[in-house]
Amino acid sequence: MARGRIVINLEACKGCQLCTTVCPSNLIRMANSFNSRGYRPAELVDPQQRCTGCALCAIMCPDAAIEVFREVKVKSQEGSAAEEVVLVVTGPA
Ligand code: SF4
Ligand code: SF4
Repeated sequence: MARGRIVINLEACKGCQLCTTVCPSNLIRMANSFNSRGYRPAELVDPQQRCTGCALCAIMCPDAAIEVFREVKVKSQEGSAAEEVVLVVTGPA
């Protein structure tokens, strides 16, 4: 299973909660604090690192406030069998 994470732009979020409805693993909730516009922004709660980087939350967000990263394995050197994991900005899975 791919692993990912999201970064939410707290100031761009208007607290509409749409992203919370689409995460397959229910990893997004609304924060207890407020941003400068008076909205409670969304936040990722993922202590077990279950986010897959599927990007459904980012697609749903009407304000493009969510950036998604997904781990991909890449060859560390030309011809090398070794692999390393990097995070890349991703679109829909
Ligand atoms: S990228 Fe997918 S799994 Fe991760 S928080 Fe968003 S909807 Fe949930
Ligand atoms: S969908 Fe976007 S604007 Fe709405 S709560 Fe989620 S991050 Fe905020």
